[in-house]
Amino acid sequence: MLASLSARILCLGALVIAALASFAAILVDSAEQAGKAVQWVNHSSAVIERTQMALSQLRSAESGSRGYIFTHVPSFATTSEEGATNADENIKRVVTMTHDNPPQYARAQELANLISQRAAMLRQSVEQGRRGDFRIAQARIAGDEGRELMDAITVRARSFLDNERALQASRSDAVNERLRWSEGLALGGAGLVALLVAIGFLLLMRGINRPLAAMRRVMTDMGQGRRSARIVEAMGSREFTHLAQSYNDMADRLERAVADQLSSETQLQEANAELQRNSETLRQRGEVIEMLGGMAHRMQAARTDDELAQIIRVFVPRVLPGIAGALYAHNNSRNLLIPIAGWGGAETDAEGFAPGQCWALRRGQSHFLREVGSDIVCSHTSPDEIYHCEPLLAGGEVIGVLYLHGTVEEETRFRLTVLAENIASALVNHRLQRSLREQTIRDPLTGLFNRRYMEETLTLEIARATRSGVPLSVVMCDIDHFKRFNDEFGHDAGDAVLQAVAAELKKQFRSGDVICRFGGEEFTIIAPGTTATVLQDRVEQVRNAVGEVNVRLKGRTLGLISMSFGIASWSSGMDPNGEGLIQAADIALYQAKREGRNRVIVNEAGE
Ligand code: GH3
Ligand code: MG
Ligand code: MG
Repeated sequence: MLASLSARILCLGALVIAALASFAAILVDSAEQAGKAVQWVNHSSAVIERTQMALSQLRSAESGSRGYIFTHVPSFATTSEEGATNADENIKRVVTMTHDNPPQYARAQELANLISQRAAMLRQSVEQGRRGDFRIAQARIAGDEGRELMDAITVRARSFLDNERALQASRSDAVNERLRWSEGLALGGAGLVALLVAIGFLLLMRGINRPLAAMRRVMTDMGQGRRSARIVEAMGSREFTHLAQSYNDMADRLERAVADQLSSETQLQEANAELQRNSETLRQRGEVIEMLGGMAHRMQAARTDDELAQIIRVFVPRVLPGIAGALYAHNNSRNLLIPIAGWGGAETDAEGFAPGQCWALRRGQSHFLREVGSDIVCSHTSPDEIYHCEPLLAGGEVIGVLYLHGTVEEETRFRLTVLAENIASALVNHRLQRSLREQTIRDPLTGLFNRRYMEETLTLEIARATRSGVPLSVVMCDIDHFKRFNDEFGHDAGDAVLQAVAAELKKQFRSGDVICRFGGEEFTIIAPGTTATVLQDRVEQVRNAVGEVNVRLKGRTLGLISMSFGIASWSSGMDPNGEGLIQAADIALYQAKREGRNRVIVNEAGE
C-alpha cells in the first residue's frame, strides 16, 4: 500500500506508461508479423506466377518448334529457342525461390529437370530442322517421347502449384488471423488501459475527496463556533495526514488562544466589575464620609443633648438607610446607658439599661444576632430580636452603644464602623464641651450656677418679662454667722455647710428657678413668672427647711444653719441689666439681717 498520494500518482502514471508501451510494442510486433506473413503470401504468388510463366514459355517453345519443323519458317525456330531458354531460366529461378521449403524445393527441382529436358528436346528439334533434318525432327514430334514428357511436366506442375497455392492460402489465413488478433489487441488493450487509468483516477479522486470532505466538515464546525472540532478520520495518505495534523495543531493553538483570550476578557471584565464596585464603594464611602463630616461638624456645634439627638435622628438614617435604631450613652455616673436618640420608629427605653445588660459593652466589640438562637441575647432587648449592638469607643473607653434593629449587611459594616467612630468622638467632644461650659457657668464647690451665669440669665429673663409682661422676682440670701463655721470647725466645715445649703436650695426651689452662688455664702435665686408675694411663701418654706439641715463632718455635728432672705420683683422702671433688681433684693436681705437674721423680707418698694 502506497502511503504517499504523490507516490500513488507517480505509480499510476508509470503503470499507464508501461501499459501503453507494452501495448505499442505488442502492436508493432503484430504489425511486423503481419508484414512478414504478407511477404510470404506475395512470395507464394511470385512462385506461382513464375512457374506458370515457365510452363507458358515451354508451351510457346513447343508450338514454335512444331511450326518451324512443319512450315520451315525460321521465326518459329527463334520463338521456340527463346521460349525454351526463358522457361528453363524461370523454372530454375522457381527452384531458388523455394529453397526454404524442402518438400516444395524437391518438387520444384523435379519439375525444373523435366522442363529442362523438354527444353533441350525442343532445342534439338530446331537444330535438326536447321540442319535440314526435318523428317527426323517430324518423326520425333510424332513419337511418344515428347508427349509423355509434357504429361509428366503437367502432372508435376499441377502438384507443385497446388501445394504452393495451399501454402499461399494458409499464409493468407495467417495474415488475416494476425490482423484480427491485432485488431482485438488494439481494442481490448486500449479498453484495458482506459479501464486501468479510470480505476486509478477514481481511486486517486477518492483518496483526495474523502479527506477533503472530512476536513471541510471539521472546518465548517469550527466556523460555526465548535472550537473542539478536530479531524479524527483516517486520511488515507501521508500528505492529507500531515495536512490534518497541521490543521489539528492549528486548531489546538487557536482553541488555546481563544480560551486565553476569553479568560483574559473574563479577567478584564471581572477586573472592570471589581473596579466599578470599588469605585462605587469608594464613591459611597466618600458620600458617607462627607455625610459623617457634616454630622460631626453639627454635633460639635450642638450645645444641648436635645440638639445632639436631633442631629443623630437626621443623619444616622441617611448613613444607615432602612435600619431603625437608637443611640444610648453612659450617664455621668456611668451606671446606666440612657437613650440619646431613636430613629426609624425604634422604641427606646427611657429608663435606659445597665452596661452589664449589653454584650457589646461587656466585650467591647460588635455583638449581633443574624438569626434567633445564633448567639447569646443582650438582656436590654427581647429574646427573639434580630439586632446589632455596636459599642461606641473613644480613647479605649466605652462611652455608649448603637442599638440597631435587624441585620447589618457586610457592605454596610464600613458605614457602621465609621458612624460609630464619629458618634463616639462627637459624643466625647460634646460632653467635653458641656463640661467646659458647665465649668464656666457653675460654681465648682456647690454645683450651682455662678454669678456670671446669673447675670446673663437675669438679663434674658428681664427681656422676656418685659416682652411677655409675666412677673419676675429675685431672692438674695446669706447664711447667718457663717464665719463661725469656719472659725470653729475649719474651712472644710464652711465648705460642707455651703454644699448642704446649696443642695437644700436645689431641692426646695422649682426646676424653672435658677439658683446661683452669688459669692461667699450669698446665693441668688431667679424665679421667672412669680410675684414677690407668691415667692415669699416658698422662701419661708426654704428657710424652715434650711433650718432643719444638720451638717456632719468627720463625725461631728456642725450645728444648725439659718439664713436671711431678701425678695424683690422686677418693675419696668428698673434698668434692664438687672442691677437694680439685685440691689432691691439685697436691700431686703440687709433689712432681714438688721432685723435679727433668719427671716424673709420683701422689698415692696422695689428700690
Ligand atoms: P452675717 O451673719 O452678718 O452674714 O455674718 P457672717 O459671718 O455670715 O458674714 P461675714 O461677711 O462676716 O463672713 C463671711 C465669711 O465667709 C468670710 C469668708 O472667710 C467666708 N467665706 C467666704 N467664702 C467662703 C468659702 O467659699 N468657704 C468658706 N469656708 N468660707 C468662706
Ligand atoms: Mg455675707
Ligand atoms: Mg453671712
